[in-house]
Amino acid sequence: MAPPYPLPRDESRVLLCRRCQARNRVPLERAFGEPERARCGSCQAPLLCGRGAPLSGLTGAEYQHPLDRQSLQALESVPGVSTILKKLVEVTLERYDRLFNQSSFVRVGGGQLSSLERLFERAAYALGLRELPELYVYHAPEINAYTGGVERPYVAVSSALCDLFTEEEVVAVLSHELSHWQSQHVLYKIAARLLTYAAGEMARYTLGVSNLVLVPLQLALLKWDRCSELTADRGMLLAVRNPHVALRVLLRLCCASQRLQGELSLERFMQQAQQAREASEEGVLDRFYTLLQTVTRTHPFPLWRAAELWSWACDGEYLSLLGRYA
Ligand SMILES: [Zn+2]
Ligand SMILES: [Zn+2]
Repeated sequence: MAPPYPLPRDESRVLLCRRCQARNRVPLERAFGEPERARCGSCQAPLLCGRGAPLSGLTGAEYQHPLDRQSLQALESVPGVSTILKKLVEVTLERYDRLFNQSSFVRVGGGQLSSLERLFERAAYALGLRELPELYVYHAPEINAYTGGVERPYVAVSSALCDLFTEEEVVAVLSHELSHWQSQHVLYKIAARLLTYAAGEMARYTLGVSNLVLVPLQLALLKWDRCSELTADRGMLLAVRNPHVALRVLLRLCCASQRLQGELSLERFMQQAQQAREASEEGVLDRFYTLLQTVTRTHPFPLWRAAELWSWACDGEYLSLLGRYA
C-alpha cells in the first residue's frame, strides 16, 4: 500500500551507500525533490543519481513493469504471433510511414524547431541513450505522442502537445516515448495501433488465418499495449526524476484544458487514483484488466497509471535504480 498523497512529513526510506555500505535514512520528500542532495552520512558519497546526470547503461528491462512482462509472455505464447504481426507491420508500414510522416510531418533537427530538439536531447541524455530516433511534429488538436518505425525508429508529437505543455512536461512525454524505444516495444506498439485504426485491414493481411487465432491475438496485443504504458511511465519518471512532475503530466493527459489549468488539483487527482487502486486490490483487478482490453481512451486508465507510478516511486525500485547509477 503506497503512502497517501501528499506525503506525510515523516515518511522516509533507508538508502544504502554503494561506497561504504552505510544505511542512511532519508526523508522521502527530499529524495523526490532534490535527489542530488542525498548524500551518505558516513562517507559523503552521493546516494542517488541527481537531475542533470545521465543513467548511463540503463536498460528497459531494469524498469519493466511486471504486468508488461506477464502480458508480453502471454502475447508471445499465442500461436503464430510473430509471423502474423511481422507480416502485418511489413505490409502496412511502408505505406503508413510514407503517407503520414514524409508528406505531412515536420522533421525536427538541423535548424528546424531547435528548442524542441533540445528538449528531446535532454530526455535522451537523462535515460542514458546515446543514439536518438528521428523526431516529428504533426498538426493535431489532441495532445498526443507516439513511437514508430521498426527499421528507422521515430517519435512523433502533436502540435497541441507543444502548445499546451510546459517544457518540463514536454521532456516528460518525450522520455515516455523514448522509454518505449529503450524497452523494445516498437514493433508491437505499431501492431496495436494498426489494429485500432485498421482492424478490417488486419483481417485482410492475415488471409488464411482463422479468427480462432486472430481474436486471442488481438486481445493479448491490446492488453499488452496497455501494460506497456506502465513501463514507459517508469522510464518517464526516471528521466524527469521528480514524481510530482511525472504525476502532473498524467493528470494533464487526462485534462489538458488551458483554461482550467489553474484549477487542477494534483492532490485530488491522486486521491481519486488511489481509491481506484484500492478498489482493484479488493479483487476486481482481473475484471479491470479484462475491461482494459476492449475500451478506449475514455476509460480511467490514467488514474490507474498514476497510482501504479506513485507506488513504484515510494516503494518500488525507483530509488534503488537512482542509487545504482549515483
Ligand atoms: Zn557511504
Ligand atoms: Zn506510451
